[in-house]
Amino acid sequence: MIQASWIAVLLATTICAYQLGSGVLFLLLPICAFGLLANRMLRMVVDMSREKAERDGRHFEELSHYISEQERTRHDLEISEEKFRNAFDHASVGMALVSMSGNIIKVNAAFAELLGVDECELLGTDFTSLMPADAVDPHRRELTKLFYGAVRSTQIEQCLYRKDRETVWALWNASRNPGDLNDEAHYIFQFQDITDKKRAEQQIVHDALHDGLTGLPNRILFVDRVQVAFRRAQRGFNINFAVCYLDFDRFKLVNDSYGHEAGDKLLVEIAERIKSVLRTNDTVARFGGDEFALLIEEMADADDVVTTLERIRQEIARPFEADAKPVYFTASIGVAPWSLDYERPEQLLRDADTALYHAKRSGRNRYEFFSQELRETTVNYLQSDTDLREAVYSNQFRAFYQPIVNIATGVLAGFEALIRWDHPRRGLVSPSEFIPIAEETGLIFPIGEWMLRESCCQLSDWRHAHPNADDLWVSVNVSAKQFKDVDLVGLVTDVLAKSGLPAHLLKLELTETAMADNIDHLVDVMLRLKDIGVRLSIDDFGTGYSGLSHLHRLPLDSLKIDRAFVSRINTGESDEIIRTIVTLARSLDLEVIAEGVENDEQLEHLLLLDCQLGQGYYYSRPVDAASAETFVAKRSTERSVPALAHRHQLETASTREIF
Ligand code: C2E
Ligand code: CA
Ligand code: CA
Repeated sequence: MIQASWIAVLLATTICAYQLGSGVLFLLLPICAFGLLANRMLRMVVDMSREKAERDGRHFEELSHYISEQERTRHDLEISEEKFRNAFDHASVGMALVSMSGNIIKVNAAFAELLGVDECELLGTDFTSLMPADAVDPHRRELTKLFYGAVRSTQIEQCLYRKDRETVWALWNASRNPGDLNDEAHYIFQFQDITDKKRAEQQIVHDALHDGLTGLPNRILFVDRVQVAFRRAQRGFNINFAVCYLDFDRFKLVNDSYGHEAGDKLLVEIAERIKSVLRTNDTVARFGGDEFALLIEEMADADDVVTTLERIRQEIARPFEADAKPVYFTASIGVAPWSLDYERPEQLLRDADTALYHAKRSGRNRYEFFSQELRETTVNYLQSDTDLREAVYSNQFRAFYQPIVNIATGVLAGFEALIRWDHPRRGLVSPSEFIPIAEETGLIFPIGEWMLRESCCQLSDWRHAHPNADDLWVSVNVSAKQFKDVDLVGLVTDVLAKSGLPAHLLKLELTETAMADNIDHLVDVMLRLKDIGVRLSIDDFGTGYSGLSHLHRLPLDSLKIDRAFVSRINTGESDEIIRTIVTLARSLDLEVIAEGVENDEQLEHLLLLDCQLGQGYYYSRPVDAASAETFVAKRSTERSVPALAHRHQLETASTREIF
């Protein structure tokens, strides 16, 4: 276009110059040039202003757009703020805004309700004061990290105290809001009430750690507490603590006699009574059945445990009640006091158990402290257990026989068969040492059967060899377990058939303590034994449990007065007991045998007390079968002599003779 104007001007100038002459040309040329320049400038100005206008227009558009955007944003912000406020105020979960310095700026109704306060009561308060004093450390640390900006958000499960001091459990979601131009940085907390969930969880945990019946800690929790006590003792605190195992003597009887419901009620009361004498930092746990455990801590000295155990024994000694009748209990307790020798907590539990075992073995109703000596006995026990199995396998048992004599005439009436263990290293081992182990391990069944067969066959042999001794009988000890757990009637029938011994020449001795267990079953077995003609005797009479109360129910033939009474003969009390037993036996038409007769004086008293049969070192110790046979042989060749003559003879003879 510029070129075109220039060409037009040049053309017009050339035409003018041609028509008007070159002088005009020189005049016209600058004018034209100026005109053209002015025109161009004008155009440029116009272009520029047009561009500016366009630019301004664009700017304006942008500005209006920006402004409308801003307005929209502000509007949106207002809406979202409004929404947030609404959401905050009406949220079903508790919410709180907390300043950077930790003060509560705002809370919603749900949170105030959660804590049982008015919203305004919370404003301005220090947020950490909501945290209970006993909040667990990791939770405190989490919040501290948030407050120091180490994390932007955190989540914890923590309980809060309500105004009424009830606790509520909440899931805390906390985050840091960095803020903007209008808003300062702050924290937003959300609290979700999880009390129900937490209670359910706590219930599950509680159930896993407590005994359902008594509510006491169970074995798991007890062991955990022992571990804690143990670690403290190792660090030099709580050095006088002890673990005790407690087992009720013959609790089973209660269940058998009154039923399990009554038994359960008694266990609950037992738990209460034990708890009532313990201090709050001690623990009593129930391991099941009638087994309890105690953890006695922070004792001033080792004797403190004795004081506590005595208190427990007193509590237990007071009568309980079942079926409106008084019930009495005793307990055996094993104690393992902590000492530096212990390396692991389980060792204390093991030793308390060992001590309990010894308390039971040494007569029950007592406590036994664990000692090195007990440990050795236990080691021996374990060795005996192994050896005893070997003894059964390779038949290392021998039957010994102790004569039982008619006190008045001195005539041999029969024998008590007493077992011996011919140990390959130790020689003859007493039954008192291995029968309890055999009973516990179940080895009593093969051992008892062997003894029964052996003694019946032996007497049968003597009867054939010595025709005049065919009224001699043998008394065999039978463990309560045999009465309870095996077909004793079937076994005895078989033994009698195979040995050919008439049933009335076999007498079975049962200790009085065996009556403590299921008496109905016992009576049933005894009646069936009587049916086949076997005779029955109660051993160690006068020492056991409630012998008198059951006596009339038992189909017995004789009573054996315990050695303890015979050895104390001539002390008024013992004589009285023997007289009572003899009178009782007579009224029930039972024979009486005095055990452990050792001297003339005892013999004389027994004679005066009208006791028929005697057994003891006075006549003979238990002897092997060959020696016993000499008594049998003598009996079949000699005649009986009057008692006084016999006594006179005894006084002068160097050995006591049996006829
Ligand atoms: P027990 O049935 O009371 O047997 C009597 C015990 O007293 C025997 O001990 C006997 O040797 C001992 N004795 C007898 N007369 C006297 C005496 O004058 N003075 C003293 N101090 N002691 C006397 P032993 O043979 O050591 O038997 C101990 C216990 O072992 C027996 O007591 C019995 O309960 C048990 N026993 C023995 N043999 C058997 C058996 O074959 N089966 C079962 N289950 N137990 C048995
Ligand atoms: Ca006996
Ligand atoms: Ca006895």
